[in-house]
Amino acid sequence: RKSEVFNIQQLFEEILAFLYPNIVDVNADIQCWIDPECELTGYRDEIKQVFINIISNALDALYRKSGQKVVGIRVSQVNGITQISISNNGIPIPPDLLSVIFEPFFTTKELGTGIGLYVCKEIIERHAGTITCESSEKNTTFTMQFQPAMGRM
Ligand code: ADP
Ligand code: MG
Repeated sequence: RKSEVFNIQQLFEEILAFLYPNIVDVNADIQCWIDPECELTGYRDEIKQVFINIISNALDALYRKSGQKVVGIRVSQVNGITQISISNNGIPIPPDLLSVIFEPFFTTKELGTGIGLYVCKEIIERHAGTITCESSEKNTTFTMQFQPAMGRM
């Protein structure tokens, strides 16, 4: 395990290739707006697991939905702060559950473990980042922000 600088677009290419069977199974339309220059500093394998978990949850939320199923991935960097958002237009999260989805073992799925988001938050916070969730009838969006890497190498 080592901390490194890595390109985010390349990371998402790997992740989408890995999740391809699930994406086909759900019949989801993946829409990406990724700044090809964006980089992050940290444990690449851990950050990869974070995005896999969040996209997997997005696909789960789309599974039973009818009509167009979209997962949106946005990556941008402003003043050194990297912002990554992953959204879907699936079954929303009720407002009263938004505060508990990051708790360990909270799940609404028959075969869920409820550890995915808990682990995501733990990894992100160890990378000096934040994760928040917003959900409405139209969209559920997870937004992650990472501070500039200066001094953390
Ligand atoms: P699991 O996927 O095993 O249930 P997670 O920690 O990954 O555990 O997610 C916890 C819960 O948060 C899920 O069971 C679900 O209720 C909710 N959730 C997470 N992501 C989404 C999403 N994109 N859309 C709707 N609900 C979600
Ligand atoms: Mg999960």
